[in-house]
Amino acid sequence: MTRVLVVEDDPQLVRALRINLQARKFDVESATDGRSALRLAATRKPDVILLDLGLPDMDGIEVIKGVRDWSRVPILVLSARHTSEDKIRALDAGADDYVTKPFSMDELLARLRAAVRRQEAAEPSQETVLVTTDGFTVDLVAKRVRRDGRDVRLTPTEWHLLEILITHPGRLISQRQLLLEVWGPTYEDKTNYLRVYMAQLRRKLEADPAHPRYLITEPGMGYRFEG
Ligand code: CA
Repeated sequence: MTRVLVVEDDPQLVRALRINLQARKFDVESATDGRSALRLAATRKPDVILLDLGLPDMDGIEVIKGVRDWSRVPILVLSARHTSEDKIRALDAGADDYVTKPFSMDELLARLRAAVRRQEAAEPSQETVLVTTDGFTVDLVAKRVRRDGRDVRLTPTEWHLLEILITHPGRLISQRQLLLEVWGPTYEDKTNYLRVYMAQLRRKLEADPAHPRYLITEPGMGYRFEG
């Protein structure tokens, strides 16, 4: 079931969206302000976000930026603002699409489906579930790591960290992004957690943990997986 987070402070519109989305088998959560939207986006991990820009506590643009710090979840903006400047601002901040109020429910749902499809297409396909290096092999579907012909036991936290890094080979993932994705929004300055867990992962996966070949530290910035 596709999970959608509706961020909108107009209760009538929330009700209308909820009825229409649930009728089409979406699982609906809603937030009426930016602060709870950011919290729900991090804790409930929706598949898509429908976002009103005019919120009581902050501009929706700030919500987009907050979510984009750590997530690629599709964001579809719903707004009464009509100028192209507003649309450009929202898209530049990281929104995927923009629908102007008043809108037709059918068009909104079609755009929502398109945004979810694009996201699914961008994610690793079922064929690329096996990540193989000279030192170890990771099966992303079975959630299994093998090294030297033996299973490597990882804790859920270690697995989550490894999964994020190996599904973005070569890319620098910031400390903040890893902390947000693995531990959640109140942990974004706990870089010591990352150091501890990365050290554990290296002990389990690297031939020489002091000189890692696969799980690379970019000092002061983040980590990178080199396949
Ligand atoms: Ca509003």
